[in-house]
Amino acid sequence: MNKYRLMSPGPTPVPEKVLLRMADTMIHHRTPQFQEVLKRVNVKLKQVFSTKNPVLIMASSGSGAMEASITNLVSAGDKILVIKGGKFGERFAEIAEAYGVEVVEYAIVWGESADPRIVENMLKENPEIKAVYSTLCETSTGVVSDIKEIGRVVAKTNAVLVVDAISGFLADELKTDKWGVDVVVCGSQKGFMLPPGLAFLSIGPKAEKLLAGSKLPKYYFDLKVALKSYGKDDTPWTPAVSLIMGLDSVLDMIIEEGLDNVIERHAYLANITREAVKAIGLELFALNPSNAVTSVKVPDGIDGVGLVKKMRDEQGITIAGGQGSLKGKIFRVAHLGYMDGYDTMTAIAGIEIVLKQLGYDVKFGKGVAKAQELFK
Ligand SMILES: *Cc1c(COP(=O)(O)O)cnc(C)c1O
Repeated sequence: MNKYRLMSPGPTPVPEKVLLRMADTMIHHRTPQFQEVLKRVNVKLKQVFSTKNPVLIMASSGSGAMEASITNLVSAGDKILVIKGGKFGERFAEIAEAYGVEVVEYAIVWGESADPRIVENMLKENPEIKAVYSTLCETSTGVVSDIKEIGRVVAKTNAVLVVDAISGFLADELKTDKWGVDVVVCGSQKGFMLPPGLAFLSIGPKAEKLLAGSKLPKYYFDLKVALKSYGKDDTPWTPAVSLIMGLDSVLDMIIEEGLDNVIERHAYLANITREAVKAIGLELFALNPSNAVTSVKVPDGIDGVGLVKKMRDEQGITIAGGQGSLKGKIFRVAHLGYMDGYDTMTAIAGIEIVLKQLGYDVKFGKGVAKAQELFK
């Protein structure tokens, strides 16, 4: 028997007290009892998103809010700039193409990060671009983007900046208002320590102005309708009541630990992992690594798909492999959400064991010792 250890970049483990909260008696959503919860959740969400603007809660996975960030801001034939350095940048482009929105692509080699000066030049060359879409952490590569600088560049133009922070949020720093991020998209099953099923979308005034002009079809994800309800601490449709109860609890946990401390903890766990895998003799994949997930090159001659499978099936530790063209070439260990140093140390120990089984020349304890040295 092995314990189930979830160390993938979503879904992530859910704290026991949050599970219990979500198992409580179902209540009706059009009641003062639920409204009271929603009201305080809305206040806490603003605090955690570092914004004074609305943060909408949707009953969907993160991709639903990604889609809403396109269908509500632009129209068919409009131009948007998509920073595409992995699977999730690609998703923004695919959604846009599905709706007939013209995509100007800034394609980056997977593993590298966007150069804000190139974003600046592309916006100068294409002044009709209405919105720029970037990821905070590109989960498929483990790269974090320089959103602060991209925000500074985009803020000087008429375009709005939309950031997919689904995996990076709470792991990598993101100052929504201060950095001029007009829309932040998040999901519940990553840094938020909740099950899948909720998406969040913050909407600043520059983005809100675009809502009225957008002619793309929408109904369930119409942000104008959602904002109207939001103003009354209500939701247009039946909200995911149980998940919102859980959200109430995790927001308390995050605020109690302190937003900066939460990010600091992710940075600490990511740093331990990076140093430990280097001590084992492996190489990091991301040039500018995120604190959400560490991507590691599979050494030559080692079966990368087998590594992830053996970790899961034999060691009970679920990490992630490479996606798309990176399949078998990298593995990814997450530090997201409800995680501490012993979770990280366990993953490192497991990686050493499995690498050895696969024929890699590893001296047991190299990575673990490095982690122990760095332990606080
Ligand atoms: C997980 C993830 C998504 C997809 O979210 P779903 O909840 O699966 O729809 C989108 N973007 C990034 C960066 C992610 O990590």
